[in-house]
Amino acid sequence: MLTLEQALERLVATGAARRLRETEEVSTFDALHRVLAEDVRSTLDVPPADNTSMDGYAVRTADVPAAGTVLPVAQRIPAGTVGATLAPGTAARIFTGAQVPAGADAIVMQEQCTALEGGAVRVDAEPQPGQWIRRRGEDIACGAPVLEAGARLMPQALGLAASVGRATLTVLRRPRVAVFSTGDELAMPGELLKPGAIYNSNRYTLRGLLQAAGCEVTDLGIVPDRLEATREALRRAAAANDLILTSGGVSVGEEDHLRPAMQAEGRLDLWQVAIKPGKPLAFGAVRRGGEGHDAGEALFVGLPGNPVSSFVTFLVAVAPLLRALQGMPAEGPAAVAMRADFDWPRPDRRREFLRVRLNGAGGLDLYPNQSSGLLTSTVWADGLLDNPPSRAIARGDTVQVRWLQEMISR
Ligand code: AMP
Ligand code: MG
Repeated sequence: MLTLEQALERLVATGAARRLRETEEVSTFDALHRVLAEDVRSTLDVPPADNTSMDGYAVRTADVPAAGTVLPVAQRIPAGTVGATLAPGTAARIFTGAQVPAGADAIVMQEQCTALEGGAVRVDAEPQPGQWIRRRGEDIACGAPVLEAGARLMPQALGLAASVGRATLTVLRRPRVAVFSTGDELAMPGELLKPGAIYNSNRYTLRGLLQAAGCEVTDLGIVPDRLEATREALRRAAAANDLILTSGGVSVGEEDHLRPAMQAEGRLDLWQVAIKPGKPLAFGAVRRGGEGHDAGEALFVGLPGNPVSSFVTFLVAVAPLLRALQGMPAEGPAAVAMRADFDWPRPDRRREFLRVRLNGAGGLDLYPNQSSGLLTSTVWADGLLDNPPSRAIARGDTVQVRWLQEMISR
Protein backbone atom coordinates (compact mmCIF):
# COMPACT_ATOMS: atom_id res chain seq x y z
CA MET A 1 0.00 0.00 0.00
CA LEU A 2 1.05 3.58 -0.72
CA THR A 3 0.41 6.48 1.58
CA LEU A 4 -1.55 9.33 0.02
CA GLU A 5 1.61 11.45 0.23
CA GLN A 6 3.56 8.89 -1.80
CA ALA A 7 0.81 8.74 -4.41
CA LEU A 8 0.63 12.53 -4.54
CA GLU A 9 4.37 12.81 -4.99
CA ARG A 10 4.07 10.81 -8.23
CA LEU A 11 0.89 12.52 -9.41
CA VAL A 12 2.11 16.03 -8.74
CA ALA A 13 5.59 15.48 -10.18
CA THR A 14 4.04 14.10 -13.36
CA GLY A 15 1.57 16.99 -13.54
CA ALA A 16 4.33 19.55 -13.01
CA ALA A 17 6.50 17.91 -15.68
CA ARG A 18 3.64 18.29 -18.16
CA ARG A 19 2.68 21.72 -17.06
CA LEU A 20 0.50 23.43 -19.65
CA ARG A 21 2.26 26.31 -21.38
CA GLU A 22 -0.17 27.47 -24.04
CA THR A 23 -1.99 30.66 -23.25
CA GLU A 24 -4.85 32.58 -24.79
CA GLU A 25 -6.09 36.11 -24.54
CA VAL A 26 -9.67 36.37 -23.34
CA SER A 27 -11.98 39.22 -22.56
CA THR A 28 -11.82 40.13 -18.89
CA PHE A 29 -15.57 39.51 -18.95
CA ASP A 30 -14.95 35.85 -19.76
CA ALA A 31 -11.94 35.24 -17.51
CA LEU A 32 -13.79 34.08 -14.41
CA HIS A 33 -12.01 31.10 -12.76
CA ARG A 34 -9.34 30.97 -15.43
CA VAL A 35 -5.68 30.78 -14.41
CA LEU A 36 -3.87 34.02 -15.06
CA ALA A 37 -0.76 33.54 -17.21
CA GLU A 38 0.79 37.01 -16.89
CA ASP A 39 1.72 39.37 -14.08
CA VAL A 40 -0.64 42.32 -14.31
CA ARG A 41 0.84 45.71 -13.43
CA SER A 42 -1.06 48.94 -13.37
CA THR A 43 -0.29 51.49 -16.05
CA LEU A 44 -2.11 54.20 -14.15
CA ASP A 45 -2.75 55.53 -10.67
CA VAL A 46 -6.00 54.32 -9.11
CA PRO A 47 -7.83 56.50 -8.38
CA PRO A 48 -6.38 58.54 -11.25
CA ALA A 49 -6.91 61.84 -9.39
CA ASP A 50 -7.81 63.10 -5.91
CA ASN A 51 -11.56 62.78 -5.51
CA THR A 52 -14.16 63.27 -2.84
CA SER A 53 -15.64 60.40 -0.84
CA MET A 54 -18.58 62.57 0.30
CA ASP A 55 -21.26 64.81 -1.12
CA GLY A 56 -20.49 68.29 0.25
CA TYR A 57 -18.31 71.31 -0.38
CA ALA A 58 -14.69 71.58 -1.44
CA VAL A 59 -12.85 74.33 0.44
CA ARG A 60 -9.45 75.73 1.27
CA THR A 61 -9.04 75.08 5.02
CA ALA A 62 -7.26 78.44 5.33
CA ASP A 63 -10.56 80.09 4.30
CA VAL A 64 -12.48 78.37 7.13
CA PRO A 65 -10.65 79.27 10.36
CA ALA A 66 -13.72 78.46 12.49
CA ALA A 67 -17.13 76.84 12.29
CA GLY A 68 -19.77 79.24 11.02
CA THR A 69 -17.69 80.73 8.17
CA VAL A 70 -19.81 81.75 5.15
CA LEU A 71 -18.36 81.32 1.63
CA PRO A 72 -19.85 82.01 -1.81
CA VAL A 73 -20.38 78.84 -3.85
CA ALA A 74 -18.46 79.55 -7.06
CA GLN A 75 -18.97 76.27 -8.95
CA ARG A 76 -20.76 72.94 -8.97
CA ILE A 77 -18.78 69.72 -9.68
CA PRO A 78 -20.78 66.51 -10.26
CA ALA A 79 -18.88 63.19 -10.58
CA GLY A 80 -17.37 62.80 -14.04
CA THR A 81 -16.67 66.48 -14.54
CA VAL A 82 -13.57 68.50 -13.74
CA GLY A 83 -13.99 71.83 -11.97
CA ALA A 84 -11.91 74.98 -12.28
CA THR A 85 -9.20 75.92 -9.78
CA LEU A 86 -10.94 76.92 -6.55
CA ALA A 87 -10.64 80.68 -6.21
CA PRO A 88 -9.47 81.76 -2.72
CA GLY A 89 -12.40 82.66 -0.50
CA THR A 90 -14.91 80.44 -2.36
CA ALA A 91 -16.38 76.95 -1.97
CA ALA A 92 -17.38 74.41 -4.66
CA ARG A 93 -20.48 72.23 -4.38
CA ILE A 94 -19.12 68.71 -5.04
CA PHE A 95 -20.51 65.18 -5.28
CA THR A 96 -19.04 61.80 -4.34
CA GLY A 97 -16.48 60.57 -6.85
CA ALA A 98 -15.90 63.99 -8.41
CA GLN A 99 -12.32 65.15 -8.85
CA VAL A 100 -11.27 67.63 -6.15
CA PRO A 101 -10.58 71.00 -7.80
CA ALA A 102 -7.05 72.36 -7.71
CA GLY A 103 -6.58 74.66 -4.71
CA ALA A 104 -9.07 72.83 -2.46
CA ASP A 105 -7.55 70.84 0.40
CA ALA A 106 -10.61 69.49 2.21
CA ILE A 107 -14.18 68.40 1.70
CA VAL A 108 -16.85 69.35 4.21
CA MET A 109 -19.71 66.86 4.12
CA GLN A 110 -23.08 68.38 3.31
CA GLU A 111 -24.48 67.33 6.70
CA GLN A 112 -22.09 69.88 8.27
CA CYS A 113 -23.05 72.73 5.90
CA THR A 114 -26.09 74.96 5.45
CA ALA A 115 -26.96 76.28 2.00
CA LEU A 116 -27.89 79.98 2.27
CA GLU A 117 -30.01 82.24 0.06
CA GLY A 118 -28.10 83.80 -2.84
CA GLY A 119 -25.67 80.96 -3.53
CA ALA A 120 -23.57 80.90 -0.39
CA VAL A 121 -22.80 78.17 2.12
CA ARG A 122 -22.23 78.32 5.86
CA VAL A 123 -19.62 75.79 6.93
CA ASP A 124 -20.72 74.57 10.36
CA ALA A 125 -17.55 72.69 11.27
CA GLU A 126 -13.84 73.48 11.14
CA PRO A 127 -12.33 71.27 8.39
CA GLN A 128 -9.02 69.43 8.73
CA PRO A 129 -6.69 69.43 5.69
CA GLY A 130 -7.22 66.29 3.57
CA GLN A 131 -10.54 65.25 5.07
CA TRP A 132 -12.85 63.15 2.83
CA ILE A 133 -10.32 63.21 0.01
CA ARG A 134 -9.35 59.91 -1.63
CA ARG A 135 -5.81 60.47 -2.85
CA ARG A 136 -4.58 59.81 -6.35
CA GLY A 137 -2.88 56.39 -6.39
CA GLU A 138 -4.19 55.54 -2.92
CA ASP A 139 -5.43 52.12 -4.09
CA ILE A 140 -2.80 51.37 -6.75
CA ALA A 141 0.24 53.34 -7.82
CA CYS A 142 1.18 53.44 -11.49
CA GLY A 143 3.54 50.51 -12.18
CA ALA A 144 2.56 48.56 -9.10
CA PRO A 145 1.89 44.81 -9.37
CA VAL A 146 -1.82 44.08 -9.22
CA LEU A 147 -2.31 40.36 -9.95
CA GLU A 148 0.21 37.55 -10.12
CA ALA A 149 0.54 34.89 -12.78
CA GLY A 150 -0.75 31.54 -11.56
CA ALA A 151 -3.70 32.91 -9.64
CA ARG A 152 -7.19 31.62 -10.30
CA LEU A 153 -9.26 34.61 -11.27
CA MET A 154 -12.05 35.21 -8.79
CA PRO A 155 -14.75 37.85 -9.40
CA GLN A 156 -12.93 40.43 -7.29
CA ALA A 157 -9.72 39.89 -9.31
CA LEU A 158 -11.65 40.62 -12.52
CA GLY A 159 -12.87 43.83 -10.92
CA LEU A 160 -9.33 44.76 -9.95
CA ALA A 161 -8.06 44.06 -13.48
CA ALA A 162 -10.85 46.21 -14.87
CA SER A 163 -10.01 49.01 -12.41
CA VAL A 164 -6.60 49.33 -14.06
CA GLY A 165 -8.20 49.36 -17.48
CA ARG A 166 -7.57 45.78 -18.64
CA ALA A 167 -10.15 44.74 -21.23
CA THR A 168 -8.39 41.43 -21.90
CA LEU A 169 -6.21 39.07 -19.89
CA THR A 170 -3.75 36.37 -20.89
CA VAL A 171 -4.80 33.10 -19.32
CA LEU A 172 -3.64 29.51 -19.47
CA ARG A 173 -5.58 27.29 -21.80
CA ARG A 174 -7.92 24.99 -19.93
CA PRO A 175 -6.79 21.43 -19.21
CA ARG A 176 -8.65 19.12 -21.59
CA VAL A 177 -10.04 16.10 -19.81
CA ALA A 178 -11.99 13.16 -21.20
CA VAL A 179 -14.24 11.23 -18.83
CA PHE A 180 -15.91 7.91 -19.19
CA SER A 181 -17.53 5.38 -16.93
CA THR A 182 -17.28 1.64 -17.18
CA GLY A 183 -19.83 -0.88 -16.07
CA ASP A 184 -22.64 -2.75 -17.78
CA GLU A 185 -24.87 -2.12 -14.77
CA LEU A 186 -24.95 1.60 -15.51
CA ALA A 187 -27.99 3.33 -16.96
CA MET A 188 -28.51 7.00 -17.70
CA PRO A 189 -31.11 9.12 -15.93
CA GLY A 190 -34.02 9.31 -18.33
CA GLU A 191 -33.71 5.63 -19.15
CA LEU A 192 -35.85 2.97 -17.56
CA LEU A 193 -33.95 1.12 -14.85
CA LYS A 194 -33.76 -2.54 -15.86
CA PRO A 195 -33.28 -5.27 -13.25
CA GLY A 196 -29.67 -5.26 -12.09
CA ALA A 197 -29.06 -1.70 -13.23
CA ILE A 198 -28.22 1.48 -11.32
CA TYR A 199 -28.02 5.05 -12.53
CA ASN A 200 -24.64 6.44 -13.48
CA SER A 201 -24.04 9.09 -10.87
CA ASN A 202 -20.26 9.35 -11.20
CA ARG A 203 -20.60 10.75 -14.68
CA TYR A 204 -22.38 13.76 -13.23
CA THR A 205 -20.22 14.18 -10.16
CA LEU A 206 -16.93 13.93 -12.04
CA ARG A 207 -18.03 16.15 -14.88
CA GLY A 208 -19.08 18.77 -12.33
CA LEU A 209 -15.86 18.47 -10.35
CA LEU A 210 -13.82 18.88 -13.53
CA GLN A 211 -15.81 21.87 -14.67
CA ALA A 212 -15.45 23.49 -11.25
CA ALA A 213 -11.70 22.89 -11.52
CA GLY A 214 -11.63 24.86 -14.79
CA CYS A 215 -11.30 21.94 -17.20
CA GLU A 216 -12.70 21.53 -20.68
CA VAL A 217 -14.57 18.26 -20.37
CA THR A 218 -15.16 15.73 -23.11
CA ASP A 219 -17.76 13.25 -21.94
CA LEU A 220 -17.45 9.85 -23.61
CA GLY A 221 -20.34 8.36 -21.70
CA ILE A 222 -20.54 4.75 -20.62
CA VAL A 223 -18.11 2.29 -22.12
CA PRO A 224 -19.30 -1.33 -22.20
CA ASP A 225 -17.37 -3.89 -20.15
CA ARG A 226 -15.53 -5.27 -23.23
CA LEU A 227 -11.84 -5.08 -23.99
CA GLU A 228 -12.04 -3.77 -27.57
CA ALA A 229 -14.61 -1.08 -26.65
CA THR A 230 -12.44 0.04 -23.75
CA ARG A 231 -9.31 0.25 -25.94
CA GLU A 232 -11.21 2.20 -28.57
CA ALA A 233 -12.46 4.68 -25.93
CA LEU A 234 -8.93 5.15 -24.62
CA ARG A 235 -7.51 5.83 -28.07
CA ARG A 236 -10.21 8.32 -28.83
CA ALA A 237 -9.80 10.07 -25.49
CA ALA A 238 -6.01 10.26 -25.76
CA ALA A 239 -6.04 11.91 -29.16
CA ALA A 240 -7.34 15.27 -27.98
CA ASN A 241 -6.93 15.40 -24.22
CA ASP A 242 -4.33 16.02 -21.53
CA LEU A 243 -5.95 13.64 -19.08
CA ILE A 244 -8.35 10.71 -19.20
CA LEU A 245 -10.43 10.15 -16.09
CA THR A 246 -12.52 7.06 -15.55
CA SER A 247 -14.46 5.62 -12.69
CA GLY A 248 -14.98 1.96 -11.92
CA GLY A 249 -13.25 -1.10 -13.18
CA VAL A 250 -9.89 -0.55 -11.51
CA SER A 251 -10.22 -3.20 -8.86
CA VAL A 252 -8.97 -6.60 -9.96
CA GLY A 253 -12.31 -8.23 -10.77
CA GLU A 254 -12.36 -10.28 -13.98
CA GLU A 255 -14.99 -7.97 -15.45
CA ASP A 256 -12.53 -5.09 -15.14
CA HIS A 257 -11.17 -4.48 -18.61
CA LEU A 258 -9.45 -1.22 -18.02
CA ARG A 259 -6.24 -2.84 -16.91
CA PRO A 260 -5.63 -4.99 -20.02
CA ALA A 261 -6.88 -2.14 -22.22
CA MET A 262 -4.44 0.29 -20.61
CA GLN A 263 -1.60 -2.18 -20.89
CA ALA A 264 -2.29 -2.48 -24.60
CA GLU A 265 -2.68 1.25 -25.22
CA GLY A 266 -0.09 2.64 -22.84
CA ARG A 267 0.97 1.85 -19.33
CA LEU A 268 -0.72 1.60 -15.98
CA ASP A 269 0.19 1.36 -12.33
CA LEU A 270 -2.45 -0.05 -10.04
CA TRP A 271 -2.09 1.50 -6.64
CA GLN A 272 -3.56 0.62 -3.33
CA VAL A 273 -3.62 3.94 -1.53
CA ALA A 274 -4.06 3.75 2.22
CA ILE A 275 -7.10 6.01 2.38
CA LYS A 276 -10.76 5.40 3.16
CA PRO A 277 -12.86 5.80 1.16
CA GLY A 278 -10.71 5.27 -1.89
CA LYS A 279 -7.95 2.67 -1.95
CA PRO A 280 -7.76 1.40 -5.56
CA LEU A 281 -6.37 4.10 -7.81
CA ALA A 282 -4.92 3.58 -11.25
CA PHE A 283 -2.39 5.97 -12.74
CA GLY A 284 -0.84 5.76 -16.15
CA ALA A 285 -0.68 7.17 -19.64
CA VAL A 286 -2.16 6.38 -23.05
CA ARG A 287 -0.04 6.73 -26.19
CA ARG A 288 -1.28 9.02 -28.89
CA GLY A 289 -1.40 7.57 -32.36
CA GLY A 290 -0.75 10.69 -34.38
CA GLU A 291 2.46 12.37 -35.44
CA GLY A 292 3.75 15.87 -34.92
CA HIS A 293 1.92 17.82 -32.24
CA ASP A 294 -0.44 14.90 -31.71
CA ALA A 295 2.36 12.61 -30.59
CA GLY A 296 3.09 11.98 -26.94
CA GLU A 297 0.65 10.65 -24.45
CA ALA A 298 -2.35 11.55 -22.35
CA LEU A 299 -2.28 11.01 -18.61
CA PHE A 300 -4.72 8.53 -17.18
CA VAL A 301 -6.33 8.32 -13.75
CA GLY A 302 -8.77 5.54 -12.93
CA LEU A 303 -10.92 6.24 -9.90
CA PRO A 304 -12.81 3.64 -7.90
CA GLY A 305 -16.40 3.07 -8.91
CA ASN A 306 -18.07 3.60 -5.56
CA PRO A 307 -19.60 7.06 -5.76
CA VAL A 308 -18.20 8.43 -2.50
CA SER A 309 -14.80 6.87 -3.21
CA SER A 310 -14.54 8.49 -6.60
CA PHE A 311 -15.69 11.84 -5.19
CA VAL A 312 -13.17 11.82 -2.34
CA THR A 313 -10.34 10.44 -4.45
CA PHE A 314 -10.91 13.15 -7.02
CA LEU A 315 -10.64 15.83 -4.35
CA VAL A 316 -7.55 14.47 -2.61
CA ALA A 317 -5.62 13.08 -5.59
CA VAL A 318 -6.89 14.36 -8.96
CA ALA A 319 -7.40 17.98 -7.93
CA PRO A 320 -3.72 18.34 -6.89
CA LEU A 321 -2.67 16.79 -10.23
CA LEU A 322 -4.84 19.29 -12.10
CA ARG A 323 -3.38 22.16 -10.10
CA ALA A 324 0.16 20.97 -10.88
CA LEU A 325 -0.75 20.74 -14.58
CA GLN A 326 -1.78 24.37 -14.41
CA GLY A 327 1.34 25.49 -12.57
CA MET A 328 -0.50 26.20 -9.34
CA PRO A 329 0.62 25.09 -5.88
CA ALA A 330 -0.52 21.49 -5.65
CA GLU A 331 -1.65 21.58 -2.07
CA GLY A 332 -5.27 22.48 -1.84
CA PRO A 333 -7.04 24.43 0.86
CA ALA A 334 -5.45 24.22 4.30
CA ALA A 335 -7.08 22.05 6.93
CA VAL A 336 -8.61 23.94 9.83
CA ALA A 337 -8.71 22.80 13.45
CA MET A 338 -12.27 22.16 14.66
CA ARG A 339 -13.96 20.49 17.60
CA ALA A 340 -15.53 17.07 17.06
CA ASP A 341 -18.98 16.82 18.64
CA PHE A 342 -19.11 13.05 18.17
CA ASP A 343 -17.25 9.87 19.04
CA TRP A 344 -15.44 7.76 16.45
CA PRO A 345 -14.19 4.89 18.55
CA ARG A 346 -13.26 2.39 15.84
CA PRO A 347 -11.05 4.17 13.32
CA ASP A 348 -9.67 2.43 10.25
CA ARG A 349 -5.99 1.61 9.85
CA ARG A 350 -6.07 3.73 6.71
CA ARG A 351 -6.22 7.53 6.72
CA GLU A 352 -9.93 8.38 6.71
CA PHE A 353 -11.82 11.23 5.11
CA LEU A 354 -15.00 11.45 7.15
CA ARG A 355 -18.03 13.38 5.96
CA VAL A 356 -18.77 16.01 8.61
CA ARG A 357 -20.87 19.12 8.92
CA LEU A 358 -20.51 22.31 10.94
CA ASN A 359 -23.21 22.52 13.61
CA GLY A 360 -24.80 25.52 15.31
CA ALA A 361 -22.52 25.16 18.34
CA GLY A 362 -19.39 25.67 16.24
CA GLY A 363 -18.39 22.00 16.30
CA LEU A 364 -18.58 19.17 13.79
CA ASP A 365 -21.29 16.53 13.43
CA LEU A 366 -20.55 13.22 11.73
CA TYR A 367 -22.71 11.72 9.02
CA PRO A 368 -23.96 8.56 10.76
CA ASN A 369 -23.21 6.19 7.89
CA GLN A 370 -19.73 6.53 6.41
CA SER A 371 -20.13 3.76 3.82
CA SER A 372 -18.47 4.56 0.49
CA GLY A 373 -21.63 3.95 -1.50
CA LEU A 374 -23.84 6.61 0.09
CA LEU A 375 -23.86 9.77 -1.96
CA THR A 376 -26.29 11.39 0.48
CA SER A 377 -23.33 11.84 2.84
CA THR A 378 -21.54 14.02 0.28
CA VAL A 379 -24.47 16.38 -0.06
CA TRP A 380 -25.18 16.47 3.69
CA ALA A 381 -21.53 17.21 4.53
CA ASP A 382 -19.73 20.50 4.22
CA GLY A 383 -16.30 19.17 5.07
CA LEU A 384 -13.95 16.21 4.97
CA LEU A 385 -12.37 15.39 8.31
CA ASP A 386 -8.83 14.23 7.66
CA ASN A 387 -8.31 11.50 10.28
CA PRO A 388 -4.84 9.95 10.64
CA PRO A 389 -4.56 6.14 10.54
CA SER A 390 -5.98 4.39 13.63
CA ARG A 391 -6.79 7.64 15.44
CA ALA A 392 -9.92 7.28 17.58
CA ILE A 393 -11.90 10.46 18.06
CA ALA A 394 -13.65 11.34 21.31
CA ARG A 395 -16.25 14.07 21.67
CA GLY A 396 -14.44 17.37 22.30
CA ASP A 397 -11.23 16.38 20.44
CA THR A 398 -9.65 18.81 18.03
CA VAL A 399 -9.67 17.45 14.49
CA GLN A 400 -8.57 18.69 11.08
CA VAL A 401 -11.15 19.45 8.42
CA ARG A 402 -11.14 20.81 4.87
CA TRP A 403 -14.26 22.51 3.57
CA LEU A 404 -15.75 20.89 0.50
CA GLN A 405 -16.60 24.23 -1.03
CA GLU A 406 -12.93 25.18 -1.07
CA MET A 407 -11.72 21.77 -2.18
CA ILE A 408 -14.13 21.82 -5.10
CA SER A 409 -13.62 25.30 -6.44
CA ARG A 410 -9.84 25.69 -6.32
P1 AMP B 1 -16.18 -1.10 -9.62
O1 AMP B 1 -15.06 -0.18 -9.17
O2 AMP B 1 -16.39 -1.09 -11.08
O3 AMP B 1 -15.99 -2.46 -9.07
O4 AMP B 1 -17.49 -0.52 -8.96
C1 AMP B 1 -17.66 -0.43 -7.57
C2 AMP B 1 -19.07 -0.05 -7.25
O5 AMP B 1 -19.37 1.25 -7.74
C3 AMP B 1 -20.11 -0.96 -7.86
O6 AMP B 1 -21.16 -1.12 -6.92
C4 AMP B 1 -20.60 -0.21 -9.07
O7 AMP B 1 -21.90 -0.53 -9.43
C5 AMP B 1 -20.51 1.22 -8.58
N1 AMP B 1 -20.28 2.14 -9.70
C6 AMP B 1 -19.34 2.00 -10.65
N2 AMP B 1 -19.41 3.00 -11.54
C7 AMP B 1 -20.43 3.78 -11.14
C8 AMP B 1 -21.01 4.98 -11.66
N3 AMP B 1 -20.52 5.57 -12.78
N4 AMP B 1 -22.06 5.52 -11.01
C9 AMP B 1 -22.54 4.93 -9.88
N5 AMP B 1 -22.03 3.83 -9.35
C10 AMP B 1 -20.99 3.25 -9.96
MG1 MG C 1 -17.41 -2.26 -12.51
